[in-house]
Amino acid sequence: MSFTLHGLPVSSGIAIGHAHLVSHTSLEVSHYILPKNMLREEVERLDAALEKTRIELTSLHEHRPQYAAAEFDAFINLHLMILADEHISQAAREMILNEQCNAEWALKVQMDSLVMQFEAFEDSYLRERKTDVVQVVERILKTMNGVSGHAPPAAKHDVLPIMVAHDVSPADLIQLKPHQFAGILTDLGGATSHTSIVARSLNKPCVVGLHHARELIKDNDMLIVDGAQGVVIVNPDKQILAEYKLRHSQFELERQKLKRLKSGRTSTLDGTVIELYANIELPDDLAEVKENGAGGIGLFRSEFLFLNRDTLPDEEEQFTAYRTVAEGMKGLPVTIRTFDLGADKQLKGAKRVASNPALGLRAIRLCLAEPQLFRTQLRALLRASVFGNVKILIPMLSGTAEINQTLNFIAATKQELDRDGLAYNPAVQIGGMIEIPAAALSLNAFVEKLDFLSIGTNDLIQYTLAIDRTDDEVAHLYDPLHPAVLHLLSHVISGANKAGVPVSVCGEMAGELAYTRLLLGLGLRQFSMHPAQLLATKQRVLTTSLPEIAMLTQKMLRASDPMKIRELLDKLNV
Ligand code: PEP
Ligand code: MG
Repeated sequence: MSFTLHGLPVSSGIAIGHAHLVSHTSLEVSHYILPKNMLREEVERLDAALEKTRIELTSLHEHRPQYAAAEFDAFINLHLMILADEHISQAAREMILNEQCNAEWALKVQMDSLVMQFEAFEDSYLRERKTDVVQVVERILKTMNGVSGHAPPAAKHDVLPIMVAHDVSPADLIQLKPHQFAGILTDLGGATSHTSIVARSLNKPCVVGLHHARELIKDNDMLIVDGAQGVVIVNPDKQILAEYKLRHSQFELERQKLKRLKSGRTSTLDGTVIELYANIELPDDLAEVKENGAGGIGLFRSEFLFLNRDTLPDEEEQFTAYRTVAEGMKGLPVTIRTFDLGADKQLKGAKRVASNPALGLRAIRLCLAEPQLFRTQLRALLRASVFGNVKILIPMLSGTAEINQTLNFIAATKQELDRDGLAYNPAVQIGGMIEIPAAALSLNAFVEKLDFLSIGTNDLIQYTLAIDRTDDEVAHLYDPLHPAVLHLLSHVISGANKAGVPVSVCGEMAGELAYTRLLLGLGLRQFSMHPAQLLATKQRVLTTSLPEIAMLTQKMLRASDPMKIRELLDKLNV
């Protein structure tokens, strides 16, 4: 049966391929009641999965890579112990027999009860072991479904599969980078969540916030994903398929044509030079940055070095990563943001998730609360600063007190490096992100104390409009054109320009063609975006005349009616 689903567009392009359903990261399992005569069989099914998981873990242990740390052994042994624990296996068997439920449900209930017990421990080490319990149960469940992780299936068809997930964390998605999916679909998420940002960086058509895709789509269903419109067509008829194949080739042709713009300067029709920089998550992204002719790195989200791992990267590992990027860009600016962990980017085994993580211990707040972690990163960043044009960017600053505290911390780290006889660039520039309304409204402190500013529109919009950027239920209220947002943007850009402090936008707005002229009209001269969006943005800049858009932009700032603002934006983009 053919049907269509609508979600939030994240990454444009058209993908055509077969569905590959991936398991749910938060372990959503169904619950059903079984007839009495099937209970023995259900227990046997559970036992078979337990045994298969035990064999898998033992084999992982036996075939561990030579470089694997001692922790790997400890981790596998711990998982084997949890697997053998009666609280999981025996309790689940009893539950199947007593409550006539399916094995998956019994496992999930036992897991939840164990997690609650672990959470009550005072000892933080023991408390953290709840993550291991969840991982073991996840492994058993995957065994039961015959699904292993998020890896794509062996190619059954000539075309690449399309991933269909209920939800994927940014950490899980970044691991897929080397894998090949033609497109990505998720039920949850907002268009500027970090999962969406990573999906965009994979440069594949992606639609999020589909609500029921994981339920309605079956493995191997034929799918068309229209990433620009946020539309998914399931099992299309021949005519529709032919139509989209044509659109797909036209899209690819356009993409090829844009490559001609790679070299050559970026300026408006009236000759104003505009800088277009790239956002990256990992040093591996450099190849794409160069392919698209970026003038520098405007945002290196360094926190991605910290995700998906049991031990945190030490100073040497971080130094190597930052140095690789600094050297790779050959003297062009490389803006490295200190880690923005917390909210939807949690460290593996994080002790607790705050009740309101976006307003919790995130970014610079976490750095200042965990000085040892911050110190290690700053040492690595400062040491890398002699290998290129490195700038340090601080996320989520709210005002003077935090700025002072951070600058003092950096000064102290420099003194430490002096004592250790380690080289760094003493004049390394320190910038601040403007992503909290309080920061935008205390601009004076920022321009007085910092060398440059970068506006994080993803968070600035989230915090101004009180809309969780990861929540698809309020995604329709996430509005970059809200008058309050436009005023804050205008205030920061014109204020920084007046003070002679360089300012850029590095949120997703910078790479959306619909907003390029608006931002230019507000006075922005530096944009940072995912490399795949660079050439299309360059084309838009090359066809823009600043004097022509000035009046329309001012009208947009004066308007309060959303319809009127959209109308003016359309005129701006004609
Ligand atoms: C932003 O908030 O706009 C930003 C660039 O930072 P991140 O998306 O990583 O929160
Ligand atoms: Mg941000």
